[in-house]
Amino acid sequence: MKTPLEAPEKQVAEETSARPGKPAASVIDTSKMSKGQREALELTEASRDPLDDRGSFASNLFVGRYDFERIHPFPEQSAEDRAAGSPFLQKLGAYLREHVDPDEIDRTGEIPQNNIDDLFAMGAFGVKIPTQYGGLGLSQVNYGRAAMLLGSWDANLTALVSAHQSIGVPQPLLLFGTEEQKKKYLPRVARKEISAFALTEWNAGSDPANMSLRADPTEGGSAFILNGEKLWCTNLIKAGVLVVMAKTAPKIVNGKERKQITAFIVDVDSPGLEITYRCHFMGLRALYNGVVKFTNVRVPRENMIAKEGQGLKVALTTLNTGRLTIPAACVGLSKRLLQICRKWAGERIQWGVPIGQHYAIAGKIAEMAGNVFAMEAMTFLTSSLVDRKAGDLRIETAMCKMWATETTWRLADEAMQVRGGRGYETAQSLAGRGEEPIPVERFLRDCRINLIFEGSSEIMRLFIAREALDPHLKVGGAIFNTQLPMSKRAKAVFTSGKFYAGWYPRQWLPGRARKIDNLHSDLVAHVNYAARTSKKLARGLFHAMARFGPKLDREQLLLSRFVGIATELFAISATCSLAQSKIDNGASREEILSLANYFCRSARLRIDHHFAGTTDNVDRRGYELTQQLLAGKHEDLRAGIV
Ligand SMILES: Cc1cc2nc3c(=O)[nH]c(=O)nc-3n(C[C@H](O)[C@H](O)[C@H](O)COP(=O)(O)OP(=O)(O)OC[C@H]3O[C@@H](n4cnc5c(N)ncnc54)[C@H](O)[C@@H]3O)c2cc1C
Repeated sequence: MKTPLEAPEKQVAEETSARPGKPAASVIDTSKMSKGQREALELTEASRDPLDDRGSFASNLFVGRYDFERIHPFPEQSAEDRAAGSPFLQKLGAYLREHVDPDEIDRTGEIPQNNIDDLFAMGAFGVKIPTQYGGLGLSQVNYGRAAMLLGSWDANLTALVSAHQSIGVPQPLLLFGTEEQKKKYLPRVARKEISAFALTEWNAGSDPANMSLRADPTEGGSAFILNGEKLWCTNLIKAGVLVVMAKTAPKIVNGKERKQITAFIVDVDSPGLEITYRCHFMGLRALYNGVVKFTNVRVPRENMIAKEGQGLKVALTTLNTGRLTIPAACVGLSKRLLQICRKWAGERIQWGVPIGQHYAIAGKIAEMAGNVFAMEAMTFLTSSLVDRKAGDLRIETAMCKMWATETTWRLADEAMQVRGGRGYETAQSLAGRGEEPIPVERFLRDCRINLIFEGSSEIMRLFIAREALDPHLKVGGAIFNTQLPMSKRAKAVFTSGKFYAGWYPRQWLPGRARKIDNLHSDLVAHVNYAARTSKKLARGLFHAMARFGPKLDREQLLLSRFVGIATELFAISATCSLAQSKIDNGASREEILSLANYFCRSARLRIDHHFAGTTDNVDRRGYELTQQLLAGKHEDLRAGIV
């Protein structure tokens, strides 16, 4: 008897005798791929951990299983955990308001050193580092609340604190470090030294397989010598220590050479390490980001994080939770933008009434409010599940990152529209002519990068789609893999047929959520819609697999619609769970339901739009048009410009 907590992967494995945990690389047909594509895929697959047997709420949405009981009742922060975080969070909030001037930081491109020192002193750089290593030892939820405060005030400080803790030295060491490494480095990075994470290079952005920075072992192997360059390393200019990803000697796997990436802790004062350039950007004007060059930099073997060749695994696993900081900061910024807009829409009179009484503006503000509620629900639901170690949450964290960053960017864009000309004017200029210095243009500039770093939106969609397809790849992928012997492929037809004969008809049965007691009837309707729609999603994905077979991974726009549907379903479900929890805790039922109902209805419209696009779209034509453009055709489109 299967329990509802079992992940689809395990269920599929049991029903088909496929082995769980077997890497899916062997069932993805790479024979038609270019060398670069194949190498990128093989490296990523080799670094990918199989999905935890316990699966997760979001991963199950793709296979038509709606486990609402995993997220309802809402996993609230315990009173004890709240009390543990409150003194620090109160101090941080007050400090930001009283001592940090974000417009001055933006204007000068520098964060005053006393701000950095004060934040170190209050523990803001070691929020999750355990107390025995000098940190505050707080939970993911408390760390998220700190990111929300920072995100609502100053994006430059948010990036400094977040790049240090979420991807810099603390997180990978907490996950993979030896006790010696933790004892040596965690007290340093908790209290006095900023850290950074160096992966990107000129030719290796979304594709780390292209990396060229090399780490060669010394004779005897007691150290490695690093040579190469890293680009866009955030915090570099202020950092004392870096996590550096380097190429090490390739390994032979199944007779073929496989690239190896290894992670090292590198002290910035190591001889041969040179910071050669500070980069400047559209927003985040005080980001301490730069280029770092390594010339024969000697790094002792004991500074390797995890094993040789596990660097990408370190990076991917670090980001599986590290990725939650950006959405938490987005919640803070979005709340701030909503606050600005609701005030302005109430007091700015045009055409005889406050602009918030014109439908066009009212619609924008309602959408902001619904999105703020849903973003907080998704982000803090996931953070709470991380604290409870409630299964494998990589899909949830990726959905939070993708959805929150895109939604916040839209929200900032709409906030600029609501503020009209004042939205476009800088805070300094507004103040100069006697108006309140509301920095919407700074917020807009600062939040755009969130869609690009820590996994771009496109890469997040591919990542989520890859995980969503995993159960199917394990069962049916071998059928299409021309690299496998015919006997294996024929066996896969039999075993997968047996599985799908049971699974597929179930996707047509009416779907209802199981655990919906103690849920307001309005919310029950949304949750049941989500349960039904997850089956429709599972059918759609299955039909796409049947239609495209091994070529499905190339259908990125189609897959992105499925990812979009699942993400909206996750947002609806998290919203309903949080809404009920707030009502139970005494919030106004009327207010909460108007927010939740608005959000869930608008999410349904977006889902309809995604489904419509799966059958009716211009994807193919668009692709062909772009290939013509890349080949230099359509000369007319260049005419008449400078
Ligand atoms: C301000 C800033 C701070 C940064 N901080 C750090 C840091 O601290 N450490 C660090 O290592 N790096 C950092 N980066 C680098 C950042 O992570 C990369 O910019 C990001 O990974 C994307 O790489 P790229 O810019 O080279 O874009 P590319 O990989 O060249 O991609 C260009 C576009 O193509 C899309 N694309 C790429 N591959 C695919 C595909 N297979 N399918 C579909 N679409 C695809 C991308 O989504 C993007 O839209 C930072 C960058 C910036 C600008």
